Amino acid sequence: MRAEVFRAWITAAATVIGEQRDHLTQLDAAIGDADHGINLDRGFTAVVSAIESAAPVTPGAVLTLTGTTLISKVGGASGPLYGTAFRRAGRALGDAADVDLPGLAVAFEDALAGVQQLGAAREGDKTMVDALAPATAAFSKAIAVGASAADALAALVEAAQAGAAATISMQALKGRASYLGPRSVGHEDPGAASTALILGALRDAARAAP
Ligand code: ADP
Ligand code: MG
Repeated sequence: MRAEVFRAWITAAATVIGEQRDHLTQLDAAIGDADHGINLDRGFTAVVSAIESAAPVTPGAVLTLTGTTLISKVGGASGPLYGTAFRRAGRALGDAADVDLPGLAVAFEDALAGVQQLGAAREGDKTMVDALAPATAAFSKAIAVGASAADALAALVEAAQAGAAATISMQALKGRASYLGPRSVGHEDPGAASTALILGALRDAARAAP
């Protein structure tokens, strides 16, 4: 996968975040402060502009610029967390012009490690980690058994979606939602939902690539 696919991913992510902005904000209204969709939409709009003007030429540079821009434009918990995830993934990809599946798996693992180092959330704490961790594991497992890129990315997204859905029954132990204690149960975590959308955009961009 070359830089064009990564640029198409981020553009598609910006589009789906824009389309789902109100939905994500409503999820955050239930257990947070009703800004998640607004935060991410602002951030990804800025990312698309940054990519258009800087025109990064490697996959790693696309993801690093995405992360840096999210950190500078998104307030709240999710900006630094997503920013770190993209920066760590970008760093893992290095200067390569073309990224293979094992390289992408390492990037996801590094992204997850970065989110967990910064936010200290574990699986089951009802955060974006509950989408990103199973997605990363499913992707690595798929490529270990020789899956195609399409199948590995499908497994990635299915695991992220299932992980996000599973947050509904969890009690939040990290982030703003944890202030609600048991009242956080019964609602999907907004960051897990947005993670599934962002990873879905990667699957779609890779599928559409020539
Ligand atoms: P804020 O909570 O500051 O308003 P957002 O609403 O943009 O920020 O993002 C909230 C999301 O951030 C949560 O749904 C959760 O997925 C994620 N989040 C919050 N704290 C953590 C953490 N410590 N580790 C991982 N993810 C977290
Ligand atoms: Mg919020």
